[in-house]
Amino acid sequence: MLQRPVYPKATSLEEFRENFAQIQARIVQACERVGRDPGTVRLLPVSKTVDEERIRMVASLGYSQFGENKVQEAQTKADAMQDLNLHWAVIGHLQTNKVKYVARFASEFQALDSLRVAELLDARLEIEDRYLDVHIQINTSGEESKYGLAPQELADFIQSIKDLKRIRVKGLMTLAILSGDPVKVRQCFVLLRQLREQMQTNLPEHMRLDDLSMGMSGDFEIAIEEGATTVRIGQALFGARALPDSHYWPGIN
Ligand SMILES: *Cc1c(COP(=O)(O)O)cnc(C)c1O
Repeated sequence: MLQRPVYPKATSLEEFRENFAQIQARIVQACERVGRDPGTVRLLPVSKTVDEERIRMVASLGYSQFGENKVQEAQTKADAMQDLNLHWAVIGHLQTNKVKYVARFASEFQALDSLRVAELLDARLEIEDRYLDVHIQINTSGEESKYGLAPQELADFIQSIKDLKRIRVKGLMTLAILSGDPVKVRQCFVLLRQLREQMQTNLPEHMRLDDLSMGMSGDFEIAIEEGATTVRIGQALFGARALPDSHYWPGIN
């Protein structure tokens, strides 16, 4: 069984240095187990619920990309820390009425799963004269409550968005099943990798599915073993969140 570890809250530079070093070491070890170059894994710190002061500490250690699950919170932080020139990745479900904000400040959106949002984003990006890197979210666990396209919907979805010039598809994203059973968790990651392999042959020219964004604090080592190129890690770096995961994702207890 996977453990549910306790994540102590990091509040000093020293603690952040230690947490990042530990996670980096675990990334390296996971890569070594499967013969991968650790340089091919991007660590994306997920800073939801983390206040500005602590994000600034992490930025001072050389990290410039942050993942946020909620648009409002992400935008507030982006505004407050404009001086740092950070790269904000919106990694949570996007409602159509929030599209215009994302088009303004985000560098990356990892949870695309609807044509409507894709079209609205493209139109707003045009107005802002910006481009946005995008991951298509896939529901690999089959849980009804989860966001994301069903795997069999991906081929048609790619065709439907291929003329949208301002969104740049870079890869696929998934949340594994929240389960203590590592076998079930691994299956989700395997599915995402296989889906990418199936799609690679028939992609519109300007699209890339190279990046696999999968793995969080509790399961990133399994994800790396299965090919993750971006791991989204919050609690293991910053400390446990006060609110349960059900606050961020539907259908989780
Ligand atoms: C919060 C969040 C993460 C990080 O989860 P942790 O358990 O804090 O590592 C990853 N992906 C998404 C989409 C999230 O909302």
